[in-house]
Amino acid sequence: MAAPIFENEFFSKNEETLQEATKMLVDIGCCTYCVLRFLGEKQLHYYRRNEKASTELLVDQLYSGGKSPESVLKREKPCITCLGILQKFCSQEFTGEIISNVKSSGYVFSTYLCSLMLPVSLIVRQHSVYLQLREKFSEMYHGISDDDIPAVKEVWKWYNGPILSEALGVPFNLKSPFEVQINFAYKHSDRECSFLSDLHPDIFRKRKTKKVDWELYSRTNVARAISSTVDSIYKRVYNFPPLPPSELAECERIACQHDSVFIAGRYNKYSRLLSQTPWLIEGIKKHETSVQELICTCLTKRFKPFECKFSASGREDVDVKMLGTGRPFVIELVNPKKSNFQPEDFVQMQEEINSSTKDIFIRDLQSVSRDEITNLKEGEIEKTKSYSAICWSESCLSQENLDTLATFKDLVLLQKTPIRVLHRRPLASRQRLIHSISGKKIDSHHFRLELSTQAGTYVKEFVHGDFGRTQPNLSTIMKTECDILELDVESVDVDWPKQLNT
Ligand SMILES: [Zn+2]
Repeated sequence: MAAPIFENEFFSKNEETLQEATKMLVDIGCCTYCVLRFLGEKQLHYYRRNEKASTELLVDQLYSGGKSPESVLKREKPCITCLGILQKFCSQEFTGEIISNVKSSGYVFSTYLCSLMLPVSLIVRQHSVYLQLREKFSEMYHGISDDDIPAVKEVWKWYNGPILSEALGVPFNLKSPFEVQINFAYKHSDRECSFLSDLHPDIFRKRKTKKVDWELYSRTNVARAISSTVDSIYKRVYNFPPLPPSELAECERIACQHDSVFIAGRYNKYSRLLSQTPWLIEGIKKHETSVQELICTCLTKRFKPFECKFSASGREDVDVKMLGTGRPFVIELVNPKKSNFQPEDFVQMQEEINSSTKDIFIRDLQSVSRDEITNLKEGEIEKTKSYSAICWSESCLSQENLDTLATFKDLVLLQKTPIRVLHRRPLASRQRLIHSISGKKIDSHHFRLELSTQAGTYVKEFVHGDFGRTQPNLSTIMKTECDILELDVESVDVDWPKQLNT
C-alpha cells in the first residue's frame, strides 16, 4: 500500500496525515475526484476515464488506512464540493450528449476548445473545506492557497478532454476559434452566496452597467468577497462542512460558437441609384439592393454566419459613383458555421459577386485578422480622397478663370453640418482641408472639377455653398453661383487591404 502513495503529487508525503485528511474529506461527503483534488493531486492520468477504477481504489485504500477497501465512495450522494459535476457529468452518457450536440450543430472545425460555466457556490463551498483542512492539517497545507487545489473545471477537462477529442476527431487547442460551451447551474447557488453580500454590501452593489445579463453573484464578485473576509469570520458565518446539496447541479446548456471571421476587399460602384447599405425609410427599403447586400449574400451562403456586419472606409452618397481602385471594406461574419476557406475560394466568391451584377465590382477579397481592421478605422480619419465632379456656373467661366483654382493649396474650409444630413447628424462646425483643386472647361456654363480633400469633407456643399454654411465655397471663390451635377469618387487613399495578384 505504502509504495503507490509516493508516486503521487500530494501536498504531504506523510502517509498518516494523508489518511486522516482523506477520512475527513470522505466523511464530510466529497467524491473521489474531489478527495484527490484536495489532497493536491495534479497528475492528469488519475482523472482519466480508464484510470477511474484504480483512482477509486487508491482513495478507498487511503480511507481505510491501507486495510481492505471499504468502498465507502460508492455511495451515490451528490458531492458537497463539486455538486455532482465530477460524478454525473464525468460519464460516458454525458460525453455522448455533448458529442451528439456538437455533431448536429453543423459547424466545420479543425480544433476545438471547451469552456465551462460552473455554479458560483462551488467557490464558497471549496473555501470552507480548504479553511478546515488548513486548520486541521497545518503542516500539509502550509503555503498552499485555495488556487493550488486543482479546480473542478480542470479536473472535468482532464477526464472529458481525451474522450471528446477522440470522438470529434480533432485536437483540443486553447486558442481554437471553435468553442463548445457547457453551462452548469445549481438551483441554490445565489442563496448560498448571499451571506457574502451581507458581509460586503459594497462589493455587490449594482453599478451602472449597460449589460443586460448582469449577475449579482459573479465569479469575480464572489472571489473578491471571499478574499476580503477574515478566515475566522468566514468559519463563523458559513457552514463547515457545507450542507449536503439537496440535488445535483444541472447541465443547463451545451452550445457551440465560432469566433468571428473578417473578410476585406475594395469595391467600385458604377450606379447612381445604389446605396452603400440598405436604405430604409420607416422600415421600408428605398432601393431593391445595396453594395452591402450584393456582397454579403454570397458570403452568407458560404460561411453560414449568425450575422453579417458590413463596414467601409467612409461612404459615398447614393448618386455618387465609386471609381478608381475602389473603397476598402470589411465584413465581420459573426459565429460562422464554416470558415475553412482557401485563397482560391475567395477568388471564386469574388467572381461570383462580380458576375451577379453590373452595379459593383469588387477586388482583393481576402481573409484578415481582427487586429488588421483597425487599419480601416484609422484610415477613415487620416486618408485623402480624390473626387471628380461636373459643375455648372451661372456666369460664363473661361479656362483662365478656372486656372486660378490651381493656386489654392490646402485651402481651409469651415463646414457647418449640411442641411441634407441634419436629420441624422448633430449640428456642428468642422474644419476641413481641400489639398488641391483644378478646373477644366466643358462649355460656357459647365466645367469638370478635380479635387483632393481631407476625409469627411462635404464636396457637394463646397461647390454650392449650402446657403453660406460652407465658407469659403466655390461660388464665393469664383464670384458666381455654382452647382454640382455629378460627382464621382476617384480614389480613397487607404493602402489596405493588400493588393492581390488575381
Ligand atoms: Zn466532487
